[in-house]
Amino acid sequence: MLDKTARSASSRADQSPLVIRRVDVIPVALPLKTPMSMAGVTITDAQNVLVRVEAADGSVGWGEAASAPTMTGDTLGGLVAAVRDHLAPMLVGQDAHDWKTLRPALHRALLGNGGAHSAVEMAVLDLAGRASGIRMIDLVGRARRASVKPMWLLGNKTAEADVAEAHARQKQGFEFFKLKIGVKPLAKEIAIAFAVRDALPKTPLCADANCGLTLAAARSYVEKTRKARLMFVEQPLAYDDIDGLKKLTRATKVPIGIDEGIHSLADIETNAKAGAGGVSLKLIKLGGISAALDAANLCKRLGLSVNIAAKIAESSISSAAALHLACGVPNVDWGVSLTHFYLAEDLVRRPLPLANGSVALPQGPGLGIEVDEAAVARFRVR
Ligand SMILES: [Mg+2]
Repeated sequence: MLDKTARSASSRADQSPLVIRRVDVIPVALPLKTPMSMAGVTITDAQNVLVRVEAADGSVGWGEAASAPTMTGDTLGGLVAAVRDHLAPMLVGQDAHDWKTLRPALHRALLGNGGAHSAVEMAVLDLAGRASGIRMIDLVGRARRASVKPMWLLGNKTAEADVAEAHARQKQGFEFFKLKIGVKPLAKEIAIAFAVRDALPKTPLCADANCGLTLAAARSYVEKTRKARLMFVEQPLAYDDIDGLKKLTRATKVPIGIDEGIHSLADIETNAKAGAGGVSLKLIKLGGISAALDAANLCKRLGLSVNIAAKIAESSISSAAALHLACGVPNVDWGVSLTHFYLAEDLVRRPLPLANGSVALPQGPGLGIEVDEAAVARFRVR
């Protein structure tokens, strides 16, 4: 795939090659603690793909991507086929330290497929980081913060249940909440925003409709919840409704966030021109941490707010990568959603902990987590 000149030019002189000898693609189904309902879908278990990259010396790196039929179009079978049939054969025999050269070749060979590309990049960088004793973020950028304060998603059937859950999570240290809207009748969604605001008068609060509102409903929601002081309302309209977004942003001062509508840097520019106040960056949408860092730098240039999120739900493998990203971007003023907290069981020996309201960037090499291969085997889809 790569000529010898390109390979030797990008190899580090002080490192011996880290030749990839094997790539395994492992589909898993991870049960959530409780089902999560959002517009268009209820998730009871996370159907994710794991990528295990093994070097000739036996060292291993891990990556993960969530299937997301309503966000990226990635199905579990599609993710497996993309990695197994297209990306893995290009990796075997290559030097993992040459990631900056390998990456564009992989993206040229397989367009789209952000989840598959992200999981592969994560695994190769985890491997390369472990071999060289370098954290993942330091391989692709630099850490600008040592920890983040994660948000918690609320999506219960009643206001009482959302308030009770918010109080319980607040006791654990969560200090930022996102309401999942676009599921219940609008009047009820509005009442819930006020109920949660009354219960948490000083806590940052936002709402995410996951494309679930019409323009009229979105206008009504942002207008009628103004006194609930939502920091932003995310993806109220269909992912590609740019005209609707223009009309909505002209009609309100409440910042509108875009999530499902962002799959590329061009999408960020388009939505910014239509008046979006910020975007949600996910590794699976952008195609990995390198592209997501580029996206975050573009957001800074455009003056957009940024939320970093894992998909509901990804284990501490992918949540660690989201954490590296969140600690490396110029700005993450709209919060960070780490979703291993929603899983009944994790795939690592020490799930990323919440301590004093923050999750710290792991200090170990690569992703900084230790995968529990017995747990991987237990949740493998056969
Ligand atoms: Mg969202």
